[in-house]
Amino acid sequence: MANQLPYDATMIPTELERNISEVDRRIRAAERASGRATGAVSLLAVSKTKPSELVRQAHGFGLSAFGENYAQEMAEKAAALADLPLCWHFIGPIQSNKTALIAEVSDWVHSIDRLKVARRLSEQRPDDRAPLNVLVQINTSNEDSKSGVGPDAAPELMEAINELPGLRLRGFMTIPAATTNQAEQREPFRQLKELMARLSDSLPYLDTLSMGMSGDLEAAVSEGANIVRVGTDIFGARYN
Ligand SMILES: *Cc1c(COP(=O)(O)O)cnc(C)c1O
Repeated sequence: MANQLPYDATMIPTELERNISEVDRRIRAAERASGRATGAVSLLAVSKTKPSELVRQAHGFGLSAFGENYAQEMAEKAAALADLPLCWHFIGPIQSNKTALIAEVSDWVHSIDRLKVARRLSEQRPDDRAPLNVLVQINTSNEDSKSGVGPDAAPELMEAINELPGLRLRGFMTIPAATTNQAEQREPFRQLKELMARLSDSLPYLDTLSMGMSGDLEAAVSEGANIVRVGTDIFGARYN
């Protein structure tokens, strides 16, 4: 019952359900508007800082893929929710001393930006798990961000990652500088799509562009996103 949730859960279930269906409606509308197939875009629910009980409820409303920025927090939630068939995506900056935890818990990692980290993830991927799906994070327009490799350095890094047995290279992720201008929102997403097209001769199986968040998912879908990462518009504002 809603009034028995720990206060920390901060949301009543009907609000969560409404948020999820609204985000789903926005994604489907953006797919239609850009002539893409219904269901071409997957929703990754970004649950960072939110309690595992809220993730459990979101699963009850049909979501199964969740994104986290901190390795320890992801591991704790994955353990608390081990009874559910969830898919965990690590989307935050990667510290070298956290790669073992990330390699054990994650199904996907979106934030690879150097070979050293990719090598460690490959070596530390448990033998009994499928290769870890990885995306290389590209620094497109975001001059403030220290994360992500520049588009020019990407091909060499991709070729090297492609050789690592514990990883399965799938594509790119980007976090552009925030703007409310639609045309400006589209530009970095278009760059990412072009980068993938340029690499399609040498790496033809790349199939994933992770781009678009609460404020710019429509622009990302129109430029070819396969995964949108939505936190605020599903779980509400983050206070910590
Ligand atoms: C927090 C975060 C998101 C979600 O952002 P919202 O604006 O809350 O939807 C998406 N991607 C990454 C990498 C994040 O760190």
